[in-house]
Amino acid sequence: MLRTPSVSSDHFDLIIVGGGPAGLCAAMYAARGMLKAVLLERGLTGGELLNTELVEDYPGFESILGRDLAEKMTAHAQKFGADIRQENVEAIERQDDGTFLVTTMLGTEYRAPTVLLTAGGTPTKLGVPGELEYAGRGVSYCAVCDGAFFKGATIAVIGGGDAAVEEAEYLTRYAKKVYVVHRRDEFRASRLLQDRLFANPKAEVVWNRSVKEILGAPAGVTDLLLNDTVSGAASKLPVEGAFIFIGFRPNTGLVKGHFNHDANGYIITDDRMMTSIPGLFAAGDLRAQLTRQVTTAVGDATTAAIAVEKYLAERKAQKPAKAAAGV
Ligand code: NAP
Repeated sequence: MLRTPSVSSDHFDLIIVGGGPAGLCAAMYAARGMLKAVLLERGLTGGELLNTELVEDYPGFESILGRDLAEKMTAHAQKFGADIRQENVEAIERQDDGTFLVTTMLGTEYRAPTVLLTAGGTPTKLGVPGELEYAGRGVSYCAVCDGAFFKGATIAVIGGGDAAVEEAEYLTRYAKKVYVVHRRDEFRASRLLQDRLFANPKAEVVWNRSVKEILGAPAGVTDLLLNDTVSGAASKLPVEGAFIFIGFRPNTGLVKGHFNHDANGYIITDDRMMTSIPGLFAAGDLRAQLTRQVTTAVGDATTAAIAVEKYLAERKAQKPAKAAAGV
């Protein structure tokens, strides 16, 4: 059960911001490590798992509903005593004394020498009718997660950047036909990725079309309603799946002050998951890395939770030494 907080200050060893797989895994490790930790999540715990119908690539679970895995991860963390609170974090600020002040929309202030940011990221939405309705029933934002559900199917990828073109090529290993629907007459994706796609007989580009609506039946997506961006003509494209890759935004805006990030805004960490701000750790989808999976999120979180313990121990050891030296 999630606790509703009172409006007061509280001190912790670790504040975890975000309750997806990374946050839940870190909360479980922190609780087992006897840290005084709190996990703050604005909605239900589970993160992107809650937008995923079936998970078939999490070891030990050949096939499990995303929401069931989310519940299991939450219950697992709580079994070891994790303190999970429903709170919408507004800002994370490092104070002059090296500790962090985390403020929430309810006005609660949390303080700790370490913060682990596990707030994930948000795939850009098309914003058309049918997109939300068929999410997890044909509409997907992750080819690695959902591609295998479309064996022998005809599907569409929407977008024209590196992600769309690369993932479209990947999806041809499952689907019998992959349309790439792009709103212009040229891709912004790299030449190499484009050439690979053009050479693939299962892929076909539909140029100059925007998606007006995603149509479906109770079982899932059936068609895309398209608009010709040059002539304005409407058309229908029968597909069983729509993979949308029109950008992804890591949720890093909560952190006040500069931290190192890559050109796309993903947080750069060291091998302990620490950011360029001492004491601020990051794990999961908002971290700069090769791939973003549930397995990589929990891997990051494991490293981060253990690194936090070491960081706290080092900090504690330094304090008496500094005091003795009169610093
Ligand atoms: P991106 O480069 O920003 O491309 C987004 C694509 O979506 C563009 O083609 C854009 O069309 C289209 N788009 C945006 N809004 C749309 C809308 N409302 N309706 C229809 N189409 C829309 O994003 P990305 O592909 O996710 O890549 C993000 C960054 O990650 C890039 O820097 C990319 O190089 C990098 N990345 C690299 C690799 C790789 O190197 N293997 C793989 C994935 C991502 P327009 O072109 O018309 O604007």
